[in-house]
Amino acid sequence: MKKLTIAIDGFSSCGKSTLAKDLAKELNYIFVDSGAMYRGIAYYVLQNKLFINGEPDKITLINKLDEITLAFEYNPEKFESDLLLNGIIISNEIRKPEVAAIVSKIAVLKEVRTKLVKTQQKLGELGGIIMDGRDIGTVVFPFADIKFFVTADPTIRAERRYKELILKDPTLTLAAIKANLDERDFLDTTREISPLKKANDAIEIDNSNLSREAQLAFALKLIKQRTIGL
Ligand code: C5P
Repeated sequence: MKKLTIAIDGFSSCGKSTLAKDLAKELNYIFVDSGAMYRGIAYYVLQNKLFINGEPDKITLINKLDEITLAFEYNPEKFESDLLLNGIIISNEIRKPEVAAIVSKIAVLKEVRTKLVKTQQKLGELGGIIMDGRDIGTVVFPFADIKFFVTADPTIRAERRYKELILKDPTLTLAAIKANLDERDFLDTTREISPLKKANDAIEIDNSNLSREAQLAFALKLIKQRTIGL
């Protein structure tokens, strides 16, 4: 069968990466978490203290973009790829609340998006890829073979993220996590460049009441139906 390009978009913490990882394993495809790359840039801002009046210093960041190299490297122990920022693994650091707090403010920048979209398109040149994010079906791979748009009830999404993050940081609260998801959804859907929206030809999956296995089975069935004869 032809090596497909599969795009998965959706709101924060709606299970996009879970679906993407499960599909990649099932189909033996490459999985790319594009959100990790935006988080990588946000981590660079934190690491280099690029702030003005408590907000990310966008101009200095734009001037330093050429100094930032992001790469994925497969980690056989974890069965997934690590993200490297200028050669250093930052997979754990990018999941911290400090990164979540600023990432969507950085993702509005045209220069940041141009840089990352170019890298993402290069990663997908050979097909056989599943990428998740906010603009994959609309901007990164507008000609993807299959596009999914994943949604879930906002309270359910916040609870899922809380259960995941509280194991690493017991000081977190559900309210703080919900506030961060709401803010990121707002910034992601209202920004001028590449706002999060469902591509016209995307298949919507609301997984509020779907188990991980049921979501995977549903997506696989649709992929099979769509690719008969390819
Ligand atoms: O997917 P994740 O929640 O880790 O993404 C973090 C943030 O990165 C999002 O809230 C969004 O602001 C930004 N992002 C983006 N475009 C993508 C992927 C992520 O703007 N393709």
